Formats: sequence, C-alpha cells, structure tokens
Amino acid sequence: MANEHFSKGAAWIEGDIVPISEAKISVLDWGLTRSDITYDVVHVWEGAFFRLEDYLDRFHASIHSLRLDIAQSREDIAQILHQMVAASGLTEAYVSMVASRGVPSIPGSRDPRHCSNHFYAWAVPFVWVIKPEVAKRGARLRVSDNTLRISPQSVDPRVKNYHWGDMTKGLFEALDAGYDSAVLVDETGHITEGPGFNIFAISSGKLLTPKSGVLEGITRQTVMEICQEMDMDVEVRAVSLAEILDAEEVFLSTTGGGVTPVTRINNKIFGNDSPGTLTKKISASYWALHKDEKYSQKIKY
Ligand code: PLP
Repeated sequence: MANEHFSKGAAWIEGDIVPISEAKISVLDWGLTRSDITYDVVHVWEGAFFRLEDYLDRFHASIHSLRLDIAQSREDIAQILHQMVAASGLTEAYVSMVASRGVPSIPGSRDPRHCSNHFYAWAVPFVWVIKPEVAKRGARLRVSDNTLRISPQSVDPRVKNYHWGDMTKGLFEALDAGYDSAVLVDETGHITEGPGFNIFAISSGKLLTPKSGVLEGITRQTVMEICQEMDMDVEVRAVSLAEILDAEEVFLSTTGGGVTPVTRINNKIFGNDSPGTLTKKISASYWALHKDEKYSQKIKY
C-alpha cells in the first residue's frame, strides 16, 4: 500500500489516509485560534510501536481533562494509527494523534460547547528533539533566567498541549546564546522540563527527576522502571537548579530520541564534557526494551 506520495509522511483526517501535505484543518478551528487542543506522540522504531497502550491511556486522560468529545474509540484510534503508518511505509516514525475543539457550529459563537470536536493523526519520518550528532557529544542546555514555565494552575502540563509560548521563548534565548536547548524553572525556582523533554539528574548514584509541573513522560516512566531494575534509588520530587548543577550526570528523556546525555548546563560542564556512564547504560536499556513483546506492537505493512 505504501507509495512515494507518502515518503514525507501520512495523515488520517475525516476518515481518509492522505499524504501529509494534503492534510488540512480549518483556519476557524479553535485548536488553531485558541490552542484548544490536545495531542500525544508515540514513536515507531524498526517497524513497531513502542508502548502504544501507554500513549493511548495518556491521550484519553488528556481528552477527558479538556472535556473533548471525539467520535473515535480507543480501539478505533489504535487501528487508525496502525493503518496510517502501514500506508506511509515508514519503519521509523514520529506519530501524532490529535483531538481538537474544532469549529463552532454557530458562526462566531464563543461557547466551547458549540464546537464540533474532532480527531486527526499524522506520521512523519522519525523526529529527533536533539539531533543524533548533538546527542553524541552531549546536549548543552540553558536554564532560562528570564522565562518561567507557565503555571500548572493555568495550563496543566500533564495534558500534552500546544501552549508553547514559554518553551519557544526559552528556546530562542538558549539558541541565541549558543546552547542546544532550554530548560525552564517554575516560580519557586525548581526545575520543570524543556521543549519536548523531561530532565533527570544522577546524584550520589540516585536518580532525581521533578515530580510536578511537568508532562509525565512515557520515556520518563520507562527510565524510572529501568533504574529501579538496576537497583538505583529513584526520587521523584522538587529538584532545585543547584541540585542539578551539582549532579554527576544529567540527561533528558523524550519519545523523540529516547535518553539523551546532557554535558553542559549554563556554565557547568558535567564529567569530562562527554556522556556519562550510567546515562549510556540507561539509554542502551531503553532501546533494548523496544524488542520486548510486552511493549512492542508490530505494524503490518
Ligand atoms: N515534556 C514535554 C513538554 C513534552 O512535549 C514531551 C514530549 O515529548 C516530554 C516532556 C517527554 O514526554 P514523552 O517521554 O512522553 O515523549
């Protein structure tokens, strides 16, 4: 079924699978005009979804939290994603599922209950949040001293969302200063997350990661399970910037690339400016888990 029209990706929209460039939504959609939308991203690696059921669980929790009502069931969505990736022919893919508030049925209405909510999905060749060549030497991050993470009381970061104003501002500051990406702190100065990733520190052999004010990443969950298997202590709690800077190793986690070493934050250089030993071990375990049938769903191309 895969053909060259799908080489840049495929989308499922209004019941059809189309080449990614043909997938369009209305300019009146509140997903666009209000960021009133939620989404989730799962990846396909070597022809199989990784932990698809966990991503579907999180997506459904987000839909529920935003009071969205879409026509497709969880089983429908799983089937759509399988068929769409099969049609794309992509064996390594970044696969997004989206639920949007949609367009009001009464033109000009400001009432969210008047909108027809809808689902769509798209798959493109694998996206690396941190490019592999950067990951190899270790990412260099800037903790913004100028931009705070949007308060969880305003936008719940556990609901994957398009409110990226803080992230994009932090990212510009970081890129302008020669860093690879940004990390944002909350109003109490504790570390939260970055544009598309969670953050971890290893300190005195213990794994630390922020508890709140973050998306509860599926990669984060996988990392914690791997570290528990390795008999490491895992502490999920508020983490200060000072603690991160004091750590032996730092890494980030994301569906868009897995476990990525961080070798510099602000002026601090970790280890000898190269990826840490435990980080490399955790990363290897992360990719090895992709072969575990418990987590893997093969695509029938
Ligand atoms: N934090 C944010 C803001 C994200 O957008 C993402 C998405 O990739 C993550 C963390 C990492 O979550 P996951 O491991 O589920 O991809």
